[in-house]
Amino acid sequence: MDNRMPRVVIIGAGFGGLWVARALAGAPVAVILIDKNNYHLFQPLLYQVATAALAPPDIVYPVRTILRGQTNLTFRMAEVTAADLNTRQLSTTAGTIDYDYLIVAAGGETNFFGMKSVERYGFGLKNIDDVLAIRNHILRLFELAAQEANAAARRAMLTFIIVGGGPTGVESAGALAELVYLVMPKDYPGIDYEEARIILLEASNRLLTGLPDDLGTATVKMLEKKRVEVRFGNPVADFDGEVVTLKDGEAIPARTLIWAAGIRAAALADKLGVKQAGLGRLVIKPTLQLPEYPEVMVIGDAAYLEAEGQPLPMVAPVATQQAQTAVNNIRRLVQGQEPEEFIYKNPGVLATIGRNAAVAHMGKWQFKGFFAWLLWLVIHIVRLIGFRNRIVVLINWAWDYFFFDRAVRVIMLKPGKVKKE
Ligand SMILES: Cc1cc2nc3c(=O)[nH]c(=O)nc-3n(C[C@H](O)[C@H](O)[C@H](O)COP(=O)(O)OP(=O)(O)OC[C@H]3O[C@@H](n4cnc5c(N)ncnc54)[C@H](O)[C@@H]3O)c2cc1C
Repeated sequence: MDNRMPRVVIIGAGFGGLWVARALAGAPVAVILIDKNNYHLFQPLLYQVATAALAPPDIVYPVRTILRGQTNLTFRMAEVTAADLNTRQLSTTAGTIDYDYLIVAAGGETNFFGMKSVERYGFGLKNIDDVLAIRNHILRLFELAAQEANAAARRAMLTFIIVGGGPTGVESAGALAELVYLVMPKDYPGIDYEEARIILLEASNRLLTGLPDDLGTATVKMLEKKRVEVRFGNPVADFDGEVVTLKDGEAIPARTLIWAAGIRAAALADKLGVKQAGLGRLVIKPTLQLPEYPEVMVIGDAAYLEAEGQPLPMVAPVATQQAQTAVNNIRRLVQGQEPEEFIYKNPGVLATIGRNAAVAHMGKWQFKGFFAWLLWLVIHIVRLIGFRNRIVVLINWAWDYFFFDRAVRVIMLKPGKVKKE
């Protein structure tokens, strides 16, 4: 690699970091991309792995394969453990790495808001380990329920609580309902499905905040049609692996709690010693630079920037659009020019509730039902990385759609590697 070229180090191969890396192909810089995993993860479909619709390899892609042939780039699989922004040096599990320009695209992690019991016994929905643990846990509970003579114990095994009425919670609840009521009866005909419950808990008084009210209301109806109980205004206070206790004291015996109620900036954000805003996100200038370190840019979920008085949402389009601005700015800074400011173009919000059911809000357009669902399918297939993954996901979805059958109903982890059972 040419040492005379400025060195750009990117932390994270998610939607932000990977897009920066690809856009720097051929640029007169030496790029080092670091990620603790050797793959890019398509997080929007994580819940489908949790509900046995897809397998992990369908939604990940090796970084080295994606960036194969990019001659100005080196990939390092390592975790960045600290950064000295004054000496421009990163500490990683694979040694130290110096940079001229740094792009922090470390994303986020599950935010349990300090609720230790929920963190201990509940499941996050943020990475492959989380969703494999959920899948194994749910499938094992069906095995146990099929053999359980005690009705109360059986009901607790078949009661699934999902916390958080944003897109992730809504999509997970819909997918879980289809697994429980449409797919599992084939394998477990002896179970009484009147004993099963899927409860979506939302602390506020509506689902999908940020979307127009009537789409929120339509989502509730679509979920209820799929036998999901939607409950508002009574947040979770505690979970001990057996009983979920709500703020007003109500106790719901349930063995499963899936936490889709919060994300915060990745732990690395706390280690940089610079200003953080809510959820630990790093405060940046409109040019995406850290105020005191113009050679450092932060993008994606880890960054805090406001547009029209509101923080930018933690969604993939923010990360990919910021990636493009970051690349433009690196090119400009290398040439001694002023960096440009980031302007977010909101492509809209989509959430699917399951087969034939979704809501979409794009500019002044609103859709619900079958058309929104088709739109959701097309957009997700197009956004997935890798032709092979697109084909495999399409086949799995078609199989599920026509035969009410999911391919990956196998329990793969030994007990003990999963949360309390
Ligand atoms: C379940 C779920 C569903 C979602 N659904 C949608 C959706 O439908 N639509 C949408 O727009 N958005 C969705 N999102 C949000 C979207 O995935 C994020 O906004 C997006 O991934 C943010 O991109 P990023 O580059 O900031 O971070 P990420 O994509 O999270 O990438 C961060 C990368 O940094 C790496 N990393 C972190 N810390 C370190 C470290 N210390 N050292 C080395 N590597 C590190 C991680 O391994 C990861 O690869 C969803 C998120 C989740 C969790």
